[in-house]
Amino acid sequence: MDPFSVMFKKHLLAWVIFESLRKEEQQKAILKLLLQTINSRKRQYRKCQFCDKKVAAEHRIDKNTCHVCASKHLGVVY
Ligand SMILES: [Zn+2]
Repeated sequence: MDPFSVMFKKHLLAWVIFESLRKEEQQKAILKLLLQTINSRKRQYRKCQFCDKKVAAEHRIDKNTCHVCASKHLGVVY
């Protein structure tokens, strides 16, 4: 399965559950979801092996190397 349909199904299921909840439960659920989103975003940050900066997944060439250092140290050209 591609990542998009996995995400879609996850959110669809969440929405079905969400609609069955009472108002105060809905508010709690939103807060929880918000915190989960923030936490999973935090987990995407990793330290670069060269510059020691914490870099988001989209700014890294692999788990441990940011784009800047990939150009500088590994000769990767964008
Ligand atoms: Zn770096």
